[in-house]
Amino acid sequence: MSGALSGLSSSGEIDSTLPTRKLLAVGCRILSLHGHDDFNQGQISARRHDSPDFLIKVAQRGFDDACPDDMVACAVAQDAVVPPEAPPEAPLHQAIYAARLDVGAIVHSHAESATIFGATDLQIVPISHEGAFFKDEVSRFDETSHTILDHDTGGAVARALGQKSALLLCNHGLVVVAATVRRAVILTLMLERACRLQLLAESLQRSYRTTRDEEVEKKRRYIYSDVAIRNYWNHAAQAACRAFPDAQEWRSPA
Ligand SMILES: [Zn+2]
Repeated sequence: MSGALSGLSSSGEIDSTLPTRKLLAVGCRILSLHGHDDFNQGQISARRHDSPDFLIKVAQRGFDDACPDDMVACAVAQDAVVPPEAPPEAPLHQAIYAARLDVGAIVHSHAESATIFGATDLQIVPISHEGAFFKDEVSRFDETSHTILDHDTGGAVARALGQKSALLLCNHGLVVVAATVRRAVILTLMLERACRLQLLAESLQRSYRTTRDEEVEKKRRYIYSDVAIRNYWNHAAQAACRAFPDAQEWRSPA
């Protein structure tokens, strides 16, 4: 397997010098491979370290076909001019970056299980490893189920998110935030799986066990350590590389 799409170096490690727009494109293909496509809807974005802007997938590309050149710079400031290529839901990203200086990357998708889960009054419980990670880490937003098109609504979403890692938009989808693109993408896959497995457990109409609190903490520290998250990204990126050979040219860090 070439390290092209995944940004893997010859040693098998993700190249830390890989430009942000290439990381975002790899993230798009991983999200696509894991069922987050909804035509060209949904976005991934990341702060730029050399400017107050962030890069975001353009409106006309989906997770399945976005390339590094399909990431457009957008200002965090609400009064700045948003480029015409930016997606209509850019205000969601602007508001979260303005409110959370610790956030370096955001994923918003219309993933199936998260959308169904968000329409219920269920809270994530630790049925699975992923459920353990997201226990008490997921907010809900129900002021509107429409597309987030303006700054007032974006601000309301950011307030609902608070200091948590994820948010379910009722009858709409999910939002996941993290310090890095790699972590945001992997957490997005984890949240969708947590929702899917809990919905499956609920559908059995039988009682079920959940992980004990002390083990929840163990799982967070071990199964989802920074090193583990990086390994999950590497694995997911390799799978995306096999599925999307068109991205071989992304190998160069330049
Ligand atoms: Zn949306």
